[in-house]
Amino acid sequence: MMERILFALLLVGATVLFSRNILRITRNIKLGKDVDRTDRKGERWSLMTRVALGQSKMVVRPVAGILHVIVYAGFVIINIEVLEILIDGLFGTHRVLSFMGGLYDFLIGSFEWLALGVWVACAIFLVRRNIIKLKRLAMKELDGWPKTDANLILITEIFLMTAFLVMNAADYKLMERGEVEMHGAFPISAELFRWLFYSWENSTLHFVERVCWWAHIIGILAFLNYLVVSKHLHILLAFPNVWYSKLAPKTEMTNMPRITGEVRSMMDPSVQPPVPVARTIAGMDMTERFGAKDVFDLSWKSLMDAYSCTECGRCTSECPANLTGKLLSPRKIMMDTRDRVAEVGKVIDAKGKWEDDGKSLHSRVSEEELWACTTCNACTQACPVNIDPVEIILEMRRYLVMEESRTRPALTTMFNNVENNGAAWAFGPDRRMEWAEEMNR
Ligand code: SF4
Ligand code: SF4
Repeated sequence: MMERILFALLLVGATVLFSRNILRITRNIKLGKDVDRTDRKGERWSLMTRVALGQSKMVVRPVAGILHVIVYAGFVIINIEVLEILIDGLFGTHRVLSFMGGLYDFLIGSFEWLALGVWVACAIFLVRRNIIKLKRLAMKELDGWPKTDANLILITEIFLMTAFLVMNAADYKLMERGEVEMHGAFPISAELFRWLFYSWENSTLHFVERVCWWAHIIGILAFLNYLVVSKHLHILLAFPNVWYSKLAPKTEMTNMPRITGEVRSMMDPSVQPPVPVARTIAGMDMTERFGAKDVFDLSWKSLMDAYSCTECGRCTSECPANLTGKLLSPRKIMMDTRDRVAEVGKVIDAKGKWEDDGKSLHSRVSEEELWACTTCNACTQACPVNIDPVEIILEMRRYLVMEESRTRPALTTMFNNVENNGAAWAFGPDRRMEWAEEMNR
């Protein structure tokens, strides 16, 4: 009875903590500006099925892609087993779903193969990160916590799979000896641990089975709460993030309604010039800005993008700016955005409302990084969860140009030409056809 009460308390505590953190992340995402991404629903469901569920962009790189599919499938499917663990834990039953007979045997057998697959895939991922040190997995922006985070995730998954297999092995040995009723099929654990458990006492096997059962479920509940402070949050956010993808052409820039309104009012005096839109965010009044100074000026989708980033570096490894030695890394842009929105969230949690902390997104992302982007969109194309770093870069550039008048010298000339001549070149519109006249001479 004590065991069941302890389990129920643990379950409630972990669920409450997880819900609280998810609500905080939802609030942080909502700090962004509103944008409508609910059109063309059929297309969105199809995209989500292909990209998030079908992992279609992951397998473009076959080695990492196939290993990731194994980990993803294993992690999702093995968690069906958690349902049984929860019922057994709460009601003191033993393998409660075994009434399914042959189907149960098939499921448990499949889970064991998947567990082995996840174990091997995670071990290979660890080798790629820490021994082979693939370039995109050993870049400077991953130093410190991001590297530790990635390793912790892989080690935890190995730990969970090991606990699952050892628990099954000990249970199977007890079933073989008639200590408990025989249910399930154990193609991996029975073979792997046959030699080890051969001579063990029944009481020791019971103890091992219980320790692994508790380790497995505590590990899962702890991991659930770890997700929300780690890049592993992508396993939850990948689906909505892909669903809300930008369906417009990748290079299409969003218009600024206020600028459009101002131009209209200049051309037609009967049109009233627009007034800046004021918003109250986390208890603070903010007027509309051109572009993005801080996370409040980005769309909620850009903030969801930041929380969905897996830090895989596929974007950076395809970025021509990065490949030619420039400072820009689209992965770092996403990590900086997520770290800044988390920082803002902590201020709101501590003070009950937002109070300017004297920092902004520009405190983390330099102008050199922003101006290195060619807007080629190779990063958005490469991202396995349809994240769009370019939108953030463009909004931050807009802020620099339109609010701070800070730009690159070559662009200043171009901007002056556009303003004075209505074209990027240093000639007025009346001279636009001179080239054709010269050709005809
Ligand atoms: S759009 Fe910019 S950040 Fe993305 S790959 Fe191209 S240059 Fe790099
Ligand atoms: S933005 Fe996408 S491709 Fe780039 S690191 Fe994040 S998840 Fe990977």
